[in-house]
Amino acid sequence: MDKIASFTVNHLTLQRGIYVSRKDITPSGDVITTFDIRMTEPNRQEALPGEVLHAIEHLAATYLRNHAEWRDRVVYWGPMGCRTGNYLLLSGDYDSRDVVELMRETFRFIADYEGEIPGATPRDCGNYSYMDQVGARKEARRFLDEVLDCITPSQLVYPE
Ligand SMILES: [Zn+2]
Repeated sequence: MDKIASFTVNHLTLQRGIYVSRKDITPSGDVITTFDIRMTEPNRQEALPGEVLHAIEHLAATYLRNHAEWRDRVVYWGPMGCRTGNYLLLSGDYDSRDVVELMRETFRFIADYEGEIPGATPRDCGNYSYMDQVGARKEARRFLDEVLDCITPSQLVYPE
């Protein structure tokens, strides 16, 4: 089998940031852009705990799917299996710069969120108590302060 494109990115030097990992064209001709929202440096910083990523998943998905400007273009938000970040899929042909402000808003929402996590009930989620809201707030704040609010060009495009 061929090595898929996302495994050809050199993870040894990868920084935290927002990267386009692929653009797919559906049979009906629509472009789907996949972003890697990298919150920790692969293999060099500790990966995020699953409970933190799960809380981020519920909050980010809720925020994005209610966003007045973007909600119709949001296809998917979810955690990476390696726990270094999240995937965002949008309908449309975009680059990372197009979503920097959207990601700042999303992570500000998570960093400031108080109250019940949406969908964190046994009826709505497959592992509803597997959540760390305090950790999600802390990691969202750190991603804002250390990455999103001072993002550089090299944190927006995967190296060739
Ligand atoms: Zn869930």
